[in-house]
Amino acid sequence: MIYNISKKAIPVNRTPLSLYERTYIPSIAKGLAVTIKHIFQKKATVNFPEVERPFSSTFRGLHILNRDEEDRERCTACGLCALSCPAEAITMEAAERLPSEEHLYREEKYAASYEINMLRCIFCGLCEEACPKDAIYLTQTFAPANYTRESFIYKKEDLLIPKKSERKETVK
Ligand code: SF4
Ligand code: SF4
Repeated sequence: MIYNISKKAIPVNRTPLSLYERTYIPSIAKGLAVTIKHIFQKKATVNFPEVERPFSSTFRGLHILNRDEEDRERCTACGLCALSCPAEAITMEAAERLPSEEHLYREEKYAASYEINMLRCIFCGLCEEACPKDAIYLTQTFAPANYTRESFIYKKEDLLIPKKSERKETVK
């Protein structure tokens, strides 16, 4: 016995097909009509990467590690971003700044290594919210596709923005 608990079951039409229906001409014509209708409708897809869809102003993409106005690294390896990350995507190692490194790092402690696993990241932006040093930001660029898992582990060198002098060289 078949129970129709939700009362939404639709009985299957088991009437035998006529000779005309068995040629499948009505079904093919119906399918072609749907295809032709969609040819003249606005496309739902874009030809990426030649064409890019505009992002919303609140789109959160790839992270950057910021520098201060004197080009020193802002990150002090406090770990608050890693702590606030719901995906546990951030890892880092802290190091003590030497007196000779004051022009490189803003604080007495800095991130000797800093990694974000983009395969884990859900681009929630909580790391940016948690950072007390304005060191980490999510940009409007997204992580490019790749073939290996390792290529989605973004290291400090990938995340840190170039120094002002290097940025000018890139513009030239
Ligand atoms: S955006 Fe969210 S998930 Fe991604 S690293 Fe930051 S806190 Fe973690
Ligand atoms: S990015 Fe910000 S929150 Fe994360 S370790 Fe560096 S200073 Fe701390």
